[in-house]
Amino acid sequence: MPMKNRLQIKNCRIISMMDITKGVRHCVCCSHCHPCPAGLNIALINKYYDLARAGDDMAADHYMKLEKHAEDCVQCGHCSSRCPFHTDPMNRMMDIKEYF
Ligand code: SF4
Ligand code: SF4
Repeated sequence: MPMKNRLQIKNCRIISMMDITKGVRHCVCCSHCHPCPAGLNIALINKYYDLARAGDDMAADHYMKLEKHAEDCVQCGHCSSRCPFHTDPMNRMMDIKEYF
């Protein structure tokens, strides 16, 4: 498996563990909310947002290189209705848009 993919999986596992220890609803990058009709990679956007807030300097750069960003969200609600972890990604896109 390529190093990039291994790192992505490792990062998602770390975020997933953060959920358990903090008891907070965070995205675990499962992609169950996909596909987004506006073409956003919701799992990756959430991942880079969480990593950036945790102090990962490269995460913001990775976010900027994505084809679609949080501001492209059309607030359709599809993702929030599909997320099994009830993270409400639709509203989270508003926070992510503000953050970046
Ligand atoms: S609410 Fe936004 S991010 Fe979620 S599926 Fe709709 S367009 Fe995509
Ligand atoms: S927002 Fe929910 S469904 Fe989408 S990737 Fe994150 S945890 Fe999975």
